[in-house]
Amino acid sequence: MRLRFAPSPTGQLHVGNARTALFNWLLAHGKDGTFILRIEDTDAERSTRESETSILEDLRWLGLDWDEGPDVEGPHGPYRQSERLHLYASYANEMIGAGHAYYCFCSPQQLDADRQAMLASGRPPRYAGTCRDLPDGKARARMDAGERPVIRFRVPAGVEVTFTDLVRGEVAFSSEVIGDPVIVRSDGRPAYNFAVVVDDALMEITHVIRGEDHISNTPRQLLMYQAMGFAPPQFAHLSLVMGPDHTPLSKRHGATSVMEFRERGYLPEALVNYLALIGWSPGGDEELLPVGELASRFNVEDVGHSAGIFDPEKLAWMNRHYMKAAAPARLAGECARYFLKAGFVSQRTPEAMDYLASLLPMAVGSVDRLEEITDRVRFVFAYDGTAALARPEIAAVLHEPGARDVITALAAEITGPLLDRESFRAMANRVKDLSGQKGKALFHPIRVALTGEVGGPELDLAVPAIDRGSMLPRGTTARPVLSCRERAAVFARQVGRDLS
Ligand code: GLU
Repeated sequence: MRLRFAPSPTGQLHVGNARTALFNWLLAHGKDGTFILRIEDTDAERSTRESETSILEDLRWLGLDWDEGPDVEGPHGPYRQSERLHLYASYANEMIGAGHAYYCFCSPQQLDADRQAMLASGRPPRYAGTCRDLPDGKARARMDAGERPVIRFRVPAGVEVTFTDLVRGEVAFSSEVIGDPVIVRSDGRPAYNFAVVVDDALMEITHVIRGEDHISNTPRQLLMYQAMGFAPPQFAHLSLVMGPDHTPLSKRHGATSVMEFRERGYLPEALVNYLALIGWSPGGDEELLPVGELASRFNVEDVGHSAGIFDPEKLAWMNRHYMKAAAPARLAGECARYFLKAGFVSQRTPEAMDYLASLLPMAVGSVDRLEEITDRVRFVFAYDGTAALARPEIAAVLHEPGARDVITALAAEITGPLLDRESFRAMANRVKDLSGQKGKALFHPIRVALTGEVGGPELDLAVPAIDRGSMLPRGTTARPVLSCRERAAVFARQVGRDLS
């Protein structure tokens, strides 16, 4: 089994295309096949190397590695269409020689006039066939005189093109509705429908899984397979991925490119697992499955043909699951850029990465995406006691009965770093005895003083995290982390001032 993903490098990788790539990859991996990446860059105006690079990077990030492709090469290369122009030229010449293709000199004006005339007479517009029977000598003479024709494929009249789509079942098109398509443009570049057939045939592709937007191209391609004497592959056309409002997933729905999902802090395994379930079910009740398991269960015939709806809530649920399952050291690597961007750490030193990893357990349980983690641990890095004291909700906590006694006792009882749950609990017990406060009346003032926030992660975890941060080597964090002792002192001074 040989499968391919054939992106046009004209922008970022859309999640709908990533799903197409994934389904090809799953089938190749589940059936011991080969997965090929081919770059369809014959549209010189719209294709860019930056786009190609970012698509490759996104595929790698998703873990959709390829056996043959532009950077790994392989027996059927090159894998970039712009490097295969000689092949298209040679097959186009053969087609002309065999009468399956012909030169066309029609000007855009002429084509437009033909089109208008067909529309006016109520016929579906298609190429009028003006140059179809131009004698060979005449065509040569016009080229010798400097005219630059296109090459058109001669669609045989009156045939019914049928194929069995692995997702949609029997599909039939009459050749009567297909005008002779351009296969080589006047600048010598091949058109998509022609290049794709030459490539899929020469690369010995056995199954083409692609978006349903290509279904009307398939009969043209099948006719070309026949004309060139190639055996066609099997086809599977996937329904498009839609937004919750049943229109194709687009910017209006939020993030659409793999890059955006990555930047927002989704883990690749969450996105892969989620995309696999759009329009396909692995069977059974389980939905959270590693990619290897998805591959072993995947059959393209089981893909549904109704539109797949992209459900951000479900993706967030999966992301929460995979964040909790990920090893903290790896998660720290994935999160580091948010910590750098927030100005919490200044570089990825081993100390900084270990410290980040130690903070994650108290944050991952309450966020949908990695990007949100920095907000959950802002109290560690960006504590500002004076600013906190000026906030009404914090002042309100301090005005609760007994709160000042708690703060005073807190400042007295924190005499050194509180590096674990036990030392925090022991300290809190002493404050409880000294202040006579318990429960919320005890812990709420402690929380506002030590974190500068009215809510947040469990103090059992937050407090040791703060003091571990305060002991990091200089330069690990962008600003020194203030210790609990210093934090309590800021609040105690204020409380003392208010009392005097
Ligand atoms: N380059 C085409 C696209 O990105 C590939 C279509 C195909 O798979 O045949 O839509």
